[in-house]
Amino acid sequence: MRSIVLLILGSGGLAVGLTALAGGSGEDPDAVAPAMETPTAEPAPGTDDDGRGADGRGADTRQEARLDGGTDDDRVRSWRSRRNRYPAPDFTPDEWEPPAGPVRIALQAGHWRASEAPEELYGLRTGGTYAAGLAEWEVNLALAERTGDMLAELGYEVDILPAVVPPDYHAHLFIAIHADGAADPAARGFRVAAPGRDYTGRAQEMVDLLRDTYGEATGLRRLPDATRRMRNYYAFNVRRYEHSLDPRTIALILETGFLTSPSDREVIVDDPDRVARGIVEAVKAFPITALPAESAPPGPPAPDGPAAR
Ligand SMILES: [Zn+2]
Repeated sequence: MRSIVLLILGSGGLAVGLTALAGGSGEDPDAVAPAMETPTAEPAPGTDDDGRGADGRGADTRQEARLDGGTDDDRVRSWRSRRNRYPAPDFTPDEWEPPAGPVRIALQAGHWRASEAPEELYGLRTGGTYAAGLAEWEVNLALAERTGDMLAELGYEVDILPAVVPPDYHAHLFIAIHADGAADPAARGFRVAAPGRDYTGRAQEMVDLLRDTYGEATGLRRLPDATRRMRNYYAFNVRRYEHSLDPRTIALILETGFLTSPSDREVIVDDPDRVARGIVEAVKAFPITALPAESAPPGPPAPDGPAAR
């Protein structure tokens, strides 16, 4: 079955207008999140990677400035102190186990209901591409729902998630669905990325599968590199944000194509079934989410089957 997950927001995240939905152009700004690497790997505030967007850093800086009017250095220190406020996972990839129960797949419709983002994800409220009269969230939601329908028909449990994930969301697999944007309408193609820090150790295998199945199903150009913004997507940042995935959830982000590209739109807007098929084929092929073997057609027992015991 498919369900829509409702959010219970934390403090102060409610009263925001809808202006967030008509974002500008440029690389998909939603995928921005602060670096999860060691503090020394962190970019200085003001660089491209930490500009406005989903990283919530703008919120922290703004709040800090409001509280004490401190210097830039103070703000950087304050920001760093907030990065690891949630404990790191206490398991290794060798100890990882999938959740109990039926296979559950989360499809996140990027930017959907972003205006509801809580204060820690303040930057989310203004993200998303807009082109050809379409806001990115509309496209992402349509693709997530079509994919979810196909998966549900196959017997999967499916959650369609909005831009803000419920705290510690846990599933077998999480796929964030987005569309890119660029000022140049010739920019086109899709890309897939695993978290920069993947606690499960299994996301890259799914990324590799999805690259193949998605490229085959859609015929879209495969872009070679996942961006830093994708790898540092806020939902992956379990140590910084309350509204992030349980680190045991295998996660990836898919930029389905460029909403600003007329040729990409022929697929991601006009032919969502191809997008959905591309995703579904990867889910079926991924060992952790593969369909159970009993769905195979019945036949005579194998010689070394139960009858031979
Ligand atoms: Zn996006």
